[in-house]
Amino acid sequence: MQRRAVGACLGLAAGDALGATVEFMTPREIQHRHGVHREITGGGWLNLPAGQVTDDTTMSLALGEAILANGRVDPQMAAKSFDGWMRTKPVDIGNTVRRGILHFRRTGLAVAPASEQDAGNGSCMRVLPVILACHGSDDETLALACRHQGRVTHHNPVAEAGTLAIARLVRMALAGTDKKNMLEGPVRTLVTEFPIFRFRIKPEMSNPSGYIVDTLRVVFQSFFDNDTFEDAVTTAVNLGGDADTTGAITGMLAGACCGVEGIPRRWLKALDAKVVADSIRQGLTLLEVAPVEVEPEDYQSLTS
Ligand code: MN
Ligand code: MN
Repeated sequence: MQRRAVGACLGLAAGDALGATVEFMTPREIQHRHGVHREITGGGWLNLPAGQVTDDTTMSLALGEAILANGRVDPQMAAKSFDGWMRTKPVDIGNTVRRGILHFRRTGLAVAPASEQDAGNGSCMRVLPVILACHGSDDETLALACRHQGRVTHHNPVAEAGTLAIARLVRMALAGTDKKNMLEGPVRTLVTEFPIFRFRIKPEMSNPSGYIVDTLRVVFQSFFDNDTFEDAVTTAVNLGGDADTTGAITGMLAGACCGVEGIPRRWLKALDAKVVADSIRQGLTLLEVAPVEVEPEDYQSLTS
C-alpha cells in the first residue's frame, strides 16, 4: 500500500513534468520536434527547468499539507490552501481555478456558484491527497471529500462525476484491483451516467482540451491500453493538448497501480529533488493519518 501510494504521488509529478514540455502542442508538432517525447527535459511554453512540475502537482501538495495541518477535509480548509497556493505565484493557473479562488477572497465563501461551464479538469488533477486521506473510509465519504475540494473552483456535475471516477479508480489501484474490475466498476458507472465520457468511440483523441471529458478520455485510453507506467504516460502526453494534466492524472493512476518501482528510474532522477521528497513524505503521512474526518455538511446553502 505504501509503495503504491508513493507511486501515485510521484507518478503525478512525473506525468506533470513530462507533459509540461509538450503542453498545448499538437501530436504532429510533438512528433516533428521530439519524435516520441519520453524524457523529462523541461522547456515548453512555460520554459520550465528540467524536472520542474506545474500547478497539477503544486496544488495537490498544497491541499495535502492543509489536510495534514487540519486533520480533516472541508471546503473552508481547501479554499484557504488554494488561496495560499495562489499567493506563491505558481507558474501556471487555470482560469476556473483563478476565478474560484478570487471568489473565495472576495466573499469568504468556500464553494463556487454552481456553473454549467466549469467542467474543466482542475478539480480532478489535484484530488490525490483527498483519496489518500480517505483511505479506509467508505465510498460516500470519499465522494463528499472530493466535492469539498472540487467545489471551491469547479462546481459542476460533469467535473464532479469525472473526479469521483478517478478517485475511485485510484483507490482500487491502491488496493491492487485488476484493470478489468476497474473498467467494469467506476468507468462503467461514469459512462452510464454521462455517455460523453465513452473513450473508444474515436480511434484517435488528439489534442485534448482542459475540458474534463477530453482529458479523461485520453487518460482512460492511455491507462487501460498500456501495461507499463512508462507506456501509459508516454501515450497520454504525446497526444498533446493539456498534456501536463493528462500526464499527471494518468501518472497518478498508473503509479497507484504499479507502485513506485514501476516508474522509470531516469524519470525519478530527473524530477526536482524537493518535489520528490515532499511527495514521498506527504503520501506516507496522509496514509498514516487516514481516514481523516470529512465535514458532513455539503455547504450547498452557501453557494448563491
Ligand atoms: Mn499544469
Ligand atoms: Mn494543464
